Amino acid sequence: MRIKTLQRKLAVALSLGALGPLIQAFTVRGHKLIKTRVTEMLGIEHPIVQGGMQWVGRAEMTSAVSNAGGLGILTALTQPDPEALGREIRRCRELTDKPFGVNLTILPTIRPVPYDDYVAAIIESGVTIVETAGRNPQPYLPALKEAGITVIHKCTSVRHSLKAESIGCDLVSVDGFECAGHPGEDDVTNLILLPLAARRLKIPFLASGGFGDGRGLVAALALGAEGINMGTRFMVTREAPIHENVKQAMVDATELDTALLYRTLRNTARVFRNSVASQVLEIEGRQGPTDFDEIAPLVKGTRGRELFESGHLEHGIWSAGMVIGLIDDIPSCEELITRIVAEAEQIISQRLKGMIS
Ligand code: NAD
Repeated sequence: MRIKTLQRKLAVALSLGALGPLIQAFTVRGHKLIKTRVTEMLGIEHPIVQGGMQWVGRAEMTSAVSNAGGLGILTALTQPDPEALGREIRRCRELTDKPFGVNLTILPTIRPVPYDDYVAAIIESGVTIVETAGRNPQPYLPALKEAGITVIHKCTSVRHSLKAESIGCDLVSVDGFECAGHPGEDDVTNLILLPLAARRLKIPFLASGGFGDGRGLVAALALGAEGINMGTRFMVTREAPIHENVKQAMVDATELDTALLYRTLRNTARVFRNSVASQVLEIEGRQGPTDFDEIAPLVKGTRGRELFESGHLEHGIWSAGMVIGLIDDIPSCEELITRIVAEAEQIISQRLKGMIS
């Protein structure tokens, strides 16, 4: 009995031993800083990254996150062509002098994407951080690394994370089953995925999927990540360039209001559960193989963009993670990031510390 108590105390002390040194003595805007290998590598104040989001990752969103001390990320494919991406990067630079990145997602698309040209535009722009997602980014790595770019690859499994490490990615963003958009096909949640990544990876990693508050940040750090990546939570901020109806729908929603589409096509995507998502599920639920052409008119990205602009919530689909269950306000990015860091710092230095007798 006594041995078990001692073992338990040792476990808590070890986890605090790992978390304690992360809290820095000096403060920014009255708050202590949480410093990790991720904040060091990316040159940011707080270990919070805004992941790539189709139609949302525009200069307004990205610069607001970077100005608040996190890392904002522009989404390359939101721009109609590589030249427009170059212009958006310049626009973002006018809105912030802090570091920001560009996301390049390599997944099936309805219209072919000239990836080489997007990569060339990113390199030419002088951006120093790129988040790749979806398929193996190996074909683009030599050019990105040659340009001195820090590459974060978003992975939904440990095997893909190890692959990303072996081909020279600097960081990975480990994306659990809770996440918005494409969670892969393994359905492993972050409680298992993150400690496995911590055991096996040498490069630092971000935790992605299900994060939106200080508790989540502390949990991610305890599970071995060195920061969090948030998408859905940043959609519900004042600066997110989407209609208020969409933000309010996510405030009103619960953790049960997401749906998994394209399972039958092995291109699973987690989206907000609306009538269009239900129609797609009905088609996928029929006997026999799914014909993507039948669902394409319902799910095409341009309809999602129009939905974000008009606020007509049944016009198309949009990506949303289970974290909608934890979202109940629409703060500015500055308020959100400050709150998350302050909450995390308080949990680590008071709640957890107080548990050690
Ligand atoms: P789109 O209009 O080309 O396609 C809409 C959706 O259908 C996307 O999810 C796409 O992956 C899927 N799709 C397209 N062709 C398919 C096929 N033949 N079989 C199965 N699924 C197919 O895409 P968009 O909305 O303009 O987005 C552009 C890119 O960004 C896509 O690759 C999309 O997957 C990606 N994206 C990623 C995330 C994420 O979570 N990382 C979120 C939104 C979009």
